[in-house]
Amino acid sequence: MQDCLFCRIGRGEIPASKVYDDELVMAFKDIQPQRPVHILVIPKKHITSLAEATEADTEVLGRMLVVANRIAVDQGSTGGFRSIINTGHIGGQEVMHVHMHIVGGQEPVGPMLKR
Ligand code: 5GP
Ligand code: ZN
Repeated sequence: MQDCLFCRIGRGEIPASKVYDDELVMAFKDIQPQRPVHILVIPKKHITSLAEATEADTEVLGRMLVVANRIAVDQGSTGGFRSIINTGHIGGQEVMHVHMHIVGGQEPVGPMLKR
């Protein structure tokens, strides 16, 4: 996926404010933050969405969850955070490369969904 936006960020071809990096995943600040802390965690390999994820992606998807708290605390969301993965058009996914939002700060994020 040469032209995928988040693949390009993962390869360092498009600048992003990187906050975490390991051999499987990286994390960077969302360009339009919805909360004081708003980070995106992505797999370095291209996975279009959770609808395309397979058994082979278990380790990388697990890593995204396991590093989330460390990233949230490092960024100043010390009392917890919300993690969100939007999938497909029903889920409101805009960038077609799996990403987990970590949103938080010092104030509660609020109700899970707008009604
Ligand atoms: P989605 O709606 O697909 O779950 O979320 C996509 C997110 O990617 C949005 O929150 C949007 O602000 C963020 N985003 C889109 N383009 C860029 C970009 O070029 N750089 C960064 N850092 N974030 C982006
Ligand atoms: Zn990609």
